[in-house]
Amino acid sequence: MDVVTIGESMALFTPNTEGKMRYANTFSRKFAGAETNIAIGLQRLGYQTGWISRIGEDELGEALLSFVRGEGVDVSQVTRDASLPTGVYFKELRHEQDVRVYYYRAGSAASQLSQKDIDEKYIANARYLHVTGITPALSETCYETIMYAISLANKHNVPVVFDPNIRVKLWSSKEKAREVIKTIAKRADIVLPGVSEAQYIFGDYTISEYANFFLENGPSKVVLKEGSKGAHYFTKNESGFVPSFSVDRVVDPVGAGDGFAAGFLSGLLEGLSMEDAVTRGNAVGAMVTMVNGDVEGLPSMEEIHYFIQRDKEDVR
Ligand code: ATP
Repeated sequence: MDVVTIGESMALFTPNTEGKMRYANTFSRKFAGAETNIAIGLQRLGYQTGWISRIGEDELGEALLSFVRGEGVDVSQVTRDASLPTGVYFKELRHEQDVRVYYYRAGSAASQLSQKDIDEKYIANARYLHVTGITPALSETCYETIMYAISLANKHNVPVVFDPNIRVKLWSSKEKAREVIKTIAKRADIVLPGVSEAQYIFGDYTISEYANFFLENGPSKVVLKEGSKGAHYFTKNESGFVPSFSVDRVVDPVGAGDGFAAGFLSGLLEGLSMEDAVTRGNAVGAMVTMVNGDVEGLPSMEEIHYFIQRDKEDVR
């Protein structure tokens, strides 16, 4: 596997109409979860990914598994749970700038992920282990599972990529979120926080100070994403900023960070420079915002090249 990831994926319901969800009568059913978004993103770019998770032995679980498998992700490490359901969430698009999510995932099958779900060989054979800050927020056993997987990756010299993906609604307190995110970041090789997430974790500092907080404690590469502005990258010897691509209309901003991670990681897997890998991440992030759904806008490599070229030449 090029990248192995661990976490929860859910059925995602989006109202077919804009505005308050309470008035919506019809919904589209999609599937999403940060970890499968990234796995699917990398598959579309030609990389082999594997997903470790638990899902319910229910109808939504059947459809979710078929969907992720259908995108080419290896689902051999997904355990079915006969007693707990597959998680569900709703995404309310009130308008472009006001997108809200509502989770129905407490007590889901994935919230009971445990160390027993992790096969050491599966992690040892990966080129990268990818984890997010969502999984450790789901339950104590999920937190332990992530720490165990990271310790296996560390043991087998598999670099760990960590996207904090702070979802305030999932944490019991800000202090707990900060403590866990810092603990995981220390054990990671690459961290991909948003600038606003760094502010949430450390308080008010400059972007280079945020980068140094990470670099001084373990990781060798840090990218601080700044939405429509662009992304700042830092290693021990280089740093830079790559502006975002312009987007005519943001249809759905959710999933841009996962798209960024997929594009950026594909660049690292290909041996691109940090600047070029970040440029690729920015392109995928921008392309994801133009389409409704977390994974529907994830591009092929050919589509990325066309998008980047078109931006340079402004041709249509
Ligand atoms: P998420 O909400 O998915 O967790 P995030 O906060 O991790 O997102 P963002 O900084 O919002 O990540 O977006 C990641 C990348 O996607 C940005 O660095 C940028 O390249 C691209 N991107 C996001 N929003 C836009 C936009 N409005 N226009 C162009 N590019 C965008």
